[in-house]
Amino acid sequence: MITVMDKNDVTKHYSNGEVIVVWQSAKCIHSGNCVKNLKPVFNPQQKPWIQMDKGSSGEIKDTVAKCPSGALSIG
Ligand code: SF4
Repeated sequence: MITVMDKNDVTKHYSNGEVIVVWQSAKCIHSGNCVKNLKPVFNPQQKPWIQMDKGSSGEIKDTVAKCPSGALSIG
């Protein structure tokens, strides 16, 4: 499911059937923490940039919890 508010404020949902990750672009401060923590899943060089099948639900939840801005959350 993708909800587009405007170009600079996009909310996207990614699911592996078990966990839903919500990403709010307007809150992202591009710290790169998520990429450093779990690059197979969170990698801006791939499309979509979050690939839920490349990590375990536990790893994904841990990484979401470390997002400093709250841009990533569990839906
Ligand atoms: S950890 Fe959060 S704020 Fe940092 S790049 Fe990832 S989504 Fe954006």
